[in-house]
Amino acid sequence: MSAVQSVLVVGGGAAGCATAILLAEAGVAVDLVEIKPDVATTGSGITLQGNALRVLRDLGVLDGVLAHGYAFDVLGLRTPDGTVIAEIPDARTGGDDLPATVGMPRPQLARLLLDRAVDVGAKVRLATTVTSVSPDGDVAFSDGSAGHYDLVVGADGVRSRVRELAGIPAAVDPVGMGIWRVFTSRPASIERTDLTYGGAAYIAGYCPTGADSIYAYLVEDAQDRTGLSPDEQLATMRDLAAQYGGPWIDIRERMTDAARINYTHFESHVVDAPWHRGRVVVTGDAAHSCPPTLAQGCAQALEDAVVLADELLAAEDRETGDAAERSSTLEKALTAYVDRRLPRARTIVDGSVQLARWLLTHEPPPRAGGTADVPGLLGRTAALLTQRP
Ligand SMILES: Cc1cc2nc3c(=O)[nH]c(=O)nc-3n(C[C@H](O)[C@H](O)[C@H](O)COP(=O)(O)OP(=O)(O)OC[C@H]3O[C@@H](n4cnc5c(N)ncnc54)[C@H](O)[C@@H]3O)c2cc1C
Repeated sequence: MSAVQSVLVVGGGAAGCATAILLAEAGVAVDLVEIKPDVATTGSGITLQGNALRVLRDLGVLDGVLAHGYAFDVLGLRTPDGTVIAEIPDARTGGDDLPATVGMPRPQLARLLLDRAVDVGAKVRLATTVTSVSPDGDVAFSDGSAGHYDLVVGADGVRSRVRELAGIPAAVDPVGMGIWRVFTSRPASIERTDLTYGGAAYIAGYCPTGADSIYAYLVEDAQDRTGLSPDEQLATMRDLAAQYGGPWIDIRERMTDAARINYTHFESHVVDAPWHRGRVVVTGDAAHSCPPTLAQGCAQALEDAVVLADELLAAEDRETGDAAERSSTLEKALTAYVDRRLPRARTIVDGSVQLARWLLTHEPPPRAGGTADVPGLLGRTAALLTQRP
């Protein structure tokens, strides 16, 4: 018997679905509630690096990811006019038998994960949330029902309601950057991610997400763009894109649908230990979030799930069945979870924020007398991510 026999997961994103899959597969009774009526309707593309793919394989969805996504192993660097200045083999952080990177549409990833959670026995309720959660595991739901669980997992994103209900403090900070994203059809010339640092934006980049699709992004100083109509948003992103050459010329021509443009600000936070209060624990973006400068937020959410499930299920060997003993076993498992995850998650958040700050302050590289050692940071990060969490 594991440290838990019944678990409520709140949130059907990557962290929540991965946690639900791993626990349900091991025989734990898992309920999952998701506030949205469907998880697979919104979002642009996502970059999944090897360490994320390693977890997705463990979850049983890698075939679907590879079938829907677009795999590549080289990162290009370009100047704003489109000239290629470097082609860098990407680290295969998930192992040599996995691609370095796969781009895919977010809705398809969400669909694969939620379907898998249902297939392995998790009971999923959409358009449902929690209205109260007690440290003892008593829960009231928005549909008027109630339940008691050995553990409630708050996988409900950066503005986690579960975190708030549990009284776990978090300070989500703005990073100072905003990102324009477009999801569109793939020009044949785009077969990998190319990044341009500088020009009209801090970062201009794109990622193929399938045979027929890409997402592209432009990172600027954070601005209040809420007053812009969809057509004005499209025009603003098109104006920025016009400052870039190479494949951006094709991308800009394909930027015609205002509904496929999205603007959001970069944020970051790390919750201090412990990540639980009684029988309530947070995971994924509810516990830590980073700007996507290392493209690691989803990967870190997936790694959280692996470690949380690992600690909960490993507790089996330590526990006798007595209620008090089980409660102390749970406490130890949740403490071991945060002990294993916090240092790695903090390193990734700090590295992601550092990259953003170097760009914001135009910090020169070491060869020019500055401290912006981007290759060094990327190399250290890849070495860390290659190790299993
Ligand atoms: C601009 C941008 C680009 C990014 N690009 C990448 C990338 O390329 N690669 C990468 O690895 N990461 C990327 N990330 C980070 C990544 O999106 C997140 O880290 C990841 O989605 C976190 O997963 P999660 O499941 O913890 O949270 P979420 O994805 O936020 O999922 C939370 C779920 O909980 C639901 N929910 C919320 N509140 C409630 C509630 N009260 N009750 C029930 N359900 C609720 C939500 O509807 C949602 O389905 C990016 C982030 C941003 C902002």
